[in-house]
Amino acid sequence: MDIRNIAIIAHVDHGKTTLVDVLLRQSGAFRANQTIATCVMDSNDQEKERGITILAKNTSVRWGESKINIIDTPGHADFGGEVERVLRMAEGVLLLVDAYEGPMPQTRFVLRKAMLNKLKPIVVVNKIDRPEARPQEVLNEIYDLFIDLDANDEQLEFPVIYASGREGYARLEPNDGNMDLKPLFEAILKHIPPPKGDPAAPLQLQCANIDYNDYVGRIAIGRIENGGIRVGQPVSLIKRLGGKVQGKVEQLFTFENLKRTPAESAPCGEIVAIAGLPDVDIGDTISDRENPVGLPPIVVDEPTLSMMFSVNTSPLSGKEGKFLTVRHLRDRLMKELKSNVALRVEDTAEPRIFKVSGRGLLHPRVVRRQGHGTRRPAPRHRPLHGHPPRPHAL
Ligand code: GDP
Repeated sequence: MDIRNIAIIAHVDHGKTTLVDVLLRQSGAFRANQTIATCVMDSNDQEKERGITILAKNTSVRWGESKINIIDTPGHADFGGEVERVLRMAEGVLLLVDAYEGPMPQTRFVLRKAMLNKLKPIVVVNKIDRPEARPQEVLNEIYDLFIDLDANDEQLEFPVIYASGREGYARLEPNDGNMDLKPLFEAILKHIPPPKGDPAAPLQLQCANIDYNDYVGRIAIGRIENGGIRVGQPVSLIKRLGGKVQGKVEQLFTFENLKRTPAESAPCGEIVAIAGLPDVDIGDTISDRENPVGLPPIVVDEPTLSMMFSVNTSPLSGKEGKFLTVRHLRDRLMKELKSNVALRVEDTAEPRIFKVSGRGLLHPRVVRRQGHGTRRPAPRHRPLHGHPPRPHAL
């Protein structure tokens, strides 16, 4: 199978969701009369509410015989550890920039990581239908940004696509009159290299992300670096911090359009989700049982901010919110830990209070909103940002 793995980098509101939606439609994933609920990637309520994409997710589109896996990247540097990990699954990046607003500071961090990882970029100057669009100036700003980020010569020669996700077209020149996304699909297939692995080599896959559900437990997500994988395959799990655990692939999934779909097997280069390895963690290598060789470790960034969480003891307690007892709060926090790897939860000397650490300001809030516990605002360190950064042009 011909595979491309691309990460998509965009500032909030620059049109990522709309573009992915229309890529899906034009790839034939949906019947013409079928309506997709808006916001395909931002399906999480919290993300909709805050307008920030927090969890990295996978989508795929087909173009001809090729499969393009689209990896969402977190829109904020607070999720640094996650950025590093999800970029490891990609060979290229789509940098999506609003043709009026230009590149925004928040995308710098992710783009810099992509440059360091030697990913091949494609620049999409989006929303060129906007009356106030200034695509040429914005392109110059993007060049300046790449130079600033020490892009190498090859990266600086990035292909440019002008697009309107909303109108569903992509163009090689802003006014060439093309009215579909074909140039974007073709640019991805032409400029983003296929995954490099050796299909004949023994299996190696590094776990880049963890998901969790109550039925199958921990689910490892990653790109097959070498070899292939199939259901029932005996594997060795090589722990990032040393040690080996024997296991078996109980269930295998690939990403088809918006869904995770069960598969019997998957080839080298494909991004898969694997259930059946309860001990799996970020950075571990899932390898061939007979040839257990670990991949170079990946760093999980240390937390930079701590907050204290406690149950609500005020007279109004019980009037609103779901989690009323210490046990509820603890269970909720521990559940979050299972899939949120850059988060840390610790007991404190006070049994009603838990210490939750994460990166920056946004991360621990993930739990707070969902948990409805009362937060004691007692940060140990100053947050990196006093408030969520306001967008302003570079
Ligand atoms: P995301 O936050 O990057 O996922 O951005 P969305 O896809 O949610 O789009 C943000 C806003 O920009 C929405 O109001 C869209 O309707 C609008 N939008 C998206 N794409 C285009 C486009 O190509 N042209 C114009 N004019 N507006 C767009």
